[in-house]
Amino acid sequence: MADIIQLLPDHVANQIAAGEVVQRPASVVKELLENAIDAGATLIKLIIKDAGKTLVQVIDDGAGMSVTDARLCFERHATSKIKTAEDLFQLHTKGFRGEALASIAAIAHVELRTKTENAEVGTSIKIEGSQVISQEVVATPKGTSISVKNLFYNIPARRNFLKSNPVETRHVIDEFHRVALAHPSVSFVMLNNGAEVFHLPVSNLRQRIVHVFGGKTNEKLVPVQETTEILSITGFVLKPEYSKKSRGEQYFFVNDRFIKSGYLHHAVLSAFEGLLREGAQPGYFLYLEVDPKTIDINIHPTKTEVKFEDEHALYAMLRSTVKHSLGQFSVGPVLDFERDKNLDTPYDYQKRTPNMPQIEVDRNFNPFEADVPKQKNITFPFEREKTASWESLYSGLEKEHKIIFSDSETHLDTVEFESEPLTGFLFQAEETKSITFQLHNKYLLTPIKNAFLVIHQQLAHERILYEELLRTITVKEAISQQLLFPITLHFSIKEVILLKEYREQLEDTGFVFESFKKEIISISAIPVNVKDSQIKIILEQLISDLQNELPDAGYSQMDVMVKSLAKSLAIKTGVSLSKEQQEHLINSLFACKEPSVSPTNKPTFVTIPLSDLDKKF
Ligand code: ADP
Ligand code: MG
Repeated sequence: MADIIQLLPDHVANQIAAGEVVQRPASVVKELLENAIDAGATLIKLIIKDAGKTLVQVIDDGAGMSVTDARLCFERHATSKIKTAEDLFQLHTKGFRGEALASIAAIAHVELRTKTENAEVGTSIKIEGSQVISQEVVATPKGTSISVKNLFYNIPARRNFLKSNPVETRHVIDEFHRVALAHPSVSFVMLNNGAEVFHLPVSNLRQRIVHVFGGKTNEKLVPVQETTEILSITGFVLKPEYSKKSRGEQYFFVNDRFIKSGYLHHAVLSAFEGLLREGAQPGYFLYLEVDPKTIDINIHPTKTEVKFEDEHALYAMLRSTVKHSLGQFSVGPVLDFERDKNLDTPYDYQKRTPNMPQIEVDRNFNPFEADVPKQKNITFPFEREKTASWESLYSGLEKEHKIIFSDSETHLDTVEFESEPLTGFLFQAEETKSITFQLHNKYLLTPIKNAFLVIHQQLAHERILYEELLRTITVKEAISQQLLFPITLHFSIKEVILLKEYREQLEDTGFVFESFKKEIISISAIPVNVKDSQIKIILEQLISDLQNELPDAGYSQMDVMVKSLAKSLAIKTGVSLSKEQQEHLINSLFACKEPSVSPTNKPTFVTIPLSDLDKKF
């Protein structure tokens, strides 16, 4: 048999390597930012267009490259950072594999401009799909600028695989945060589609965190500090009351490199034991310094996983240090003498006189209350003109004896519910033969033929709202209520960017946004039937859900958004409902397309056959 093995051409090998190094625009951001850090830059500018799909550019004022190096840096395994295998155990740089630029150049249009301090002129190189297109002498300042355009232009399958712009932008910002948080002594600027979204001056750690996450963060931080022979820990944890449902701000850095570690996370979690609400996630920014000899960062191509020599000792130390800090913080206020006063107020608000806070939380809010404005065609959030009548539930059952309500196998769509359009109030008590009971302000009980239903009021209402909202958005007939004074709400910069990405969909539900500033959004109208006191909670829940669910779940963004709104607006467990409200809820539930499950796939009701009861007597 003839020989069949051959070496892959370089550009093919590079493309394959790119599969490991570059998953998405954010991977390019990470590699370029880290190269700029390794080059000793003091100012780094990141420019993004279309979530990085069209352009990722990083400009630094670091060491720059000579003419030869500028050409060589795109070769595979070309690195200035290690020379021997031993160097791997003394790493003080981010990069060392010499793969990133070769990989990126294999799958994008790349332009490099670079100049070293002492060189008179710089070099410009254009390279596309590993092919050098041009090399020129240019006038350029000291440092390096690399722009990466049209990522995956030659691998359509990978390009199609990219998520929507909001999702990819979020990944980009995450990477930007990770590098910026690891290097407070470097100044960073980030531009997204032409607008400056971050401007982070050189600062201390605390100020850097506050600059990244917004002025309100300062008061949430509890300092953590410990030095032992094998490890030093500095950083902050968030006070337990600021824990979130989502894994929001959780950062470990080892020797200035962001890492992920379930094991260390568990150590922090256990330090918070007894201080967190159930299911809540602590926030932390923890910086570990260890001897580079005792870690192996070579186990993952993107280098976010690290193996420690003495994991158990690290775990114990981290746990006790965080515990100790948490124990101390309640003793006295946290003082930061280096604190930058400008951080407390957004730039454009500094000269204004403060307003009284406008947001109040009305914990007793009950959307069924009579003062809810009644309007025609309102479909947000739960009113509807035409819905099933209560009796239809029974009549359906009578005709179709075989239908048994069971939470797993209900096929209610075979029952005709949309029979009698009602006018005015959905329930006219005197006409209704139904009986409902509310149990523990949580469940609604109602007898049906040979059984009774136990309905979970909150989950049932979530289902109703979910379907209503989807309809509202699809037919674009949301009704807004104009606010007398626009509401301004504070969020972190990243959260504002996220909400802005959903502006259109949110406006389809009835919100009207006046402006999105750095950390402030201003809302001039809200969906009818929503109280302004609810808005902050609704949007916070939405942010948390969007961050949690995307990008991995297969749901569409719209779906995540609608689920989140339904969850926020639903009447909660603990709310007492009048008979009329109970009936309204049950009727609306069984007018839904899928009444038996909540939007998050929990059963909305269970059926208990009388025979089950009979057996007990
Ligand atoms: P690595 O970072 O693992 O060495 P890269 O492919 O990322 O591999 O970069 C290859 C080489 O190009 C680096 O080792 C460095 O010498 C040079 N280089 C890359 N980016 C820059 C930059 N922004 N400034 C100066 N030199 C750079
Ligand atoms: Mg690199």
